[in-house]
Formats: sequence, C-alpha cells, structure tokens
Amino acid sequence: MAVIAAEKALLAEGWERDVRLHIEQGKLKRIERGAKPAPGDECHDLLLPGMPNLHSHAFQLAMSGLAEQRGPGTDTFWSWRTIMYRFALTMAPEDVEAVAAMLYVLMLEAGFTRIGEFHYLHHQPDGSPYDNPAELGERIASACGETGINLTLLPSFYAHSNFGGLTPTEGQRRFISTLDQFARLHEGCARAIAALPESVIGIAPHSLRAVTGEELQALVAAHPDGPVHIHAAEQVKEVDDCLAATGRRPVEWLLDNMPVNQRWCLIHSTHMTKDEVRGLALSGAVAGLCPITEGNLGDGIFEAEAFRSAGGHFGIGSDSNVLISIAAELRQLEYSQRLKHLQRNMIAPPGRSTGRTLFDEALAGGSRTLGKPSGLQEGANADFLSLDRSAAPWLDEDAAIDGWIFGQAIKPDCVWTRGVKRVSNGQHIAREAIAARFRKAMISLCERGY
Ligand SMILES: [Zn+2]
Repeated sequence: MAVIAAEKALLAEGWERDVRLHIEQGKLKRIERGAKPAPGDECHDLLLPGMPNLHSHAFQLAMSGLAEQRGPGTDTFWSWRTIMYRFALTMAPEDVEAVAAMLYVLMLEAGFTRIGEFHYLHHQPDGSPYDNPAELGERIASACGETGINLTLLPSFYAHSNFGGLTPTEGQRRFISTLDQFARLHEGCARAIAALPESVIGIAPHSLRAVTGEELQALVAAHPDGPVHIHAAEQVKEVDDCLAATGRRPVEWLLDNMPVNQRWCLIHSTHMTKDEVRGLALSGAVAGLCPITEGNLGDGIFEAEAFRSAGGHFGIGSDSNVLISIAAELRQLEYSQRLKHLQRNMIAPPGRSTGRTLFDEALAGGSRTLGKPSGLQEGANADFLSLDRSAAPWLDEDAAIDGWIFGQAIKPDCVWTRGVKRVSNGQHIAREAIAARFRKAMISLCERGY
C-alpha cells in the first residue's frame, strides 16, 4: 500500500494538518489525520482533490490558435463553427487519438482528473459509419487509457441542423445518426470503455437544435440511468429560434417537457430569465459552465450570483479546449460577474475565500454530473494534486487557492489518478512521446488544408 503524506490536505470536511493518505487499488483506503510522515512516505506540502472537467470536445484542441483571425464581416459563434466543421471533416481516427491524448496530458497537468467527453465526431469523412461504429469512441478511450485520466464518455445524439427537425447540413455529416444507429454506437462506446477502470457512460443529446422533442423523449427513456448532458441557451440566436419553433426558451422548454433532475447537466445555460434561473436551480441539475470558451465565442455571461442564491449547482468544463486551466476557468467565471455587476468577490459568501468557494462548488457539481464521487474521502478514487507554493510560501490554505486562481506564483505540481502519479514537477510522465505525436498530426492536418 502506498502512502502519500501532506503537511496540509483539503479533505471533504476542510483543511487538515499532517495527513497520510493510504492508497490501495486506486482508492483512498484510509486517511490518517494529525500523523507525521513515516519512513518511505512520499511527502508534499498542500494536497487538493482532483477537479472534474465536465465538458470537452477533444478534437477541437486542434483549432486552438487557428480561429482567432477576424473574417470579412462580423465574427460570431457561427463563423467559428464553420472552421470547426472543416477540422471535423479532415481528421482521421489517428489524428483524433493523437489530439485527444495531448489534450488529456494538458488536462492532467492542469489538475483535472476526470473528463466528461461530449463525443459527437462519430463517422467517416464522407458521413458513412466506420465498420466499427464506435471507432472514434475507442480512440477517445485509448487516449484516456494512455494518459490515465478518468473518463465519463457521453456519446452524442445529433440528427438535425435546426429546430423543427431540419435536414442536417453537409458540414455536419460526421455527427449525424438515426436513433437506431445511435443505439449501436452507444453499445460500441460502452464496450470501448469497459476495460477502463472507473469509467462511466452517459448520453449527450447535442442540443434542442439537433434533436427533436420526440427523439429526446425516446433517448431518455432508452437510457434510464447515467448522466444526461445537453447544450442549452448558449447563443441568443438559439434562444430566438427555439422561441419561434416551440413558443418556449431552451431552458424553459427542457424544464417544462423533460424530467430534468440531478442526472442532467445543461451545458452553458447562458441566456436565462429569472424564472429559468430559479427553475434550473430547483431542478437539481448542474449548470455546465465553460467560462473560457463562452468568452472566446462571445456567448454571454452566466447569471452566477442569482443561480447560486437560488441553490443552483455548477461545474466547469473546457468545451472548445482553446486553453486548459482550472485557474483560468474559475477566474474568468468570477471576473465576468465583477465586470457585469461592478463589484468584487461576487461568488463567495461574506468572510469566505472566493478561490476556495469556486473550487469547492466546481468540484461538487462536476463530480455529481460525471457520475463518480470525488474529493479526498475514504472510499473515493485516489485522484488528487499537490500545489507548488515554493515561490509564495506565505500563501497558505485558502489563500494558496486564491493565489493559484487569481495570481501566478502557485501552480499544480504533481497529479495522481487512481493512486498513480501521472504528473511530476508539472509535467505528464508521457508528455514527450504524446507531444511529438500531436505535433506530427497537426503538421499533417495543416498540410492537408483542414
Ligand atoms: Zn460544447
């Protein structure tokens, strides 16, 4: 049994001094408090639980840095999506795996220990299914196996180009399935992750644009367990189109027509009325916030304060994967509130640390919606990280988290999943080989003119 000792660790019940974590078969078998390190222990300064990343489209890491040039007209989400489709149509299975492995290295180095992969790139470039319909799901699973990140795979059902069951566009052909095809794809994905320890499978109806109400009902009925993730109310145009087609706004429609509860995660939920904010908070669903992507795509600002005041739960995701950083996601969430409301320290209750509050709530919301408990508690997966505060040793406990999220002196140092150290001194143990493969795949994609 391995033992990791820490001067201080953020346990489920709060900071504790002189902690020894006993790890057996990937789990936290026992947590000793007030115990000095024993010979043979690996010793660290501050330990925190690993953070779940509840929303990612792995292949989009390939676009990072390639979609920031202004076009001839007004640039919006919809012009970004055109570039994204070009990438989606060019990538071969080996490219998808090389990009996903690089992404998961970056996530582990950032301190994310579980990924919710909202997986919608399914078919061959011409739109026909691969011989193995879950070919690309297998690629995602192998990238997780290689890097060690925990996987919650959310195969996406995508059938239409807009509300009213409109025919998909040519650019969407690699995403599209009928319900029958999706059932086979989902079975294949379940087989693909079976050998990955601690993996979870759910479903991801893409959005109300891409799935009709009847299809959504059938899908939820066919999968009575596991997480349900759906994009909702990311863009004003999407809200307007939903109102025109159904007389309801996206979040309102979901709350009125679907059994939205703790299983559900509504990704973005950016544009909500006060009633929607209250309804979503009371439903027990998690709001899947992706603050960096939402800023990058010009989506809008989530009503964080009102949602939290109503008892709502949130987690964070990296969505388009333009930048991978727990600190940057949480900072952007807080700063968007400050800029909107012209105040400071908006998220924390009076007298409490903002960084700690953001960290705790994103951890709880992310764990709930990815289907596995996390946090440093006995019986949970041994998924955690150490912070290097050698450059700012005066920042302790909550102030160390604030220094990490709002400053630059403190960084993740080592990261473990299932008790295995995947990141040491800020670098993933297999970074070199995975980064070389990624570079090769990216150069080839650029040469092929994505
Ligand atoms: Zn997304």
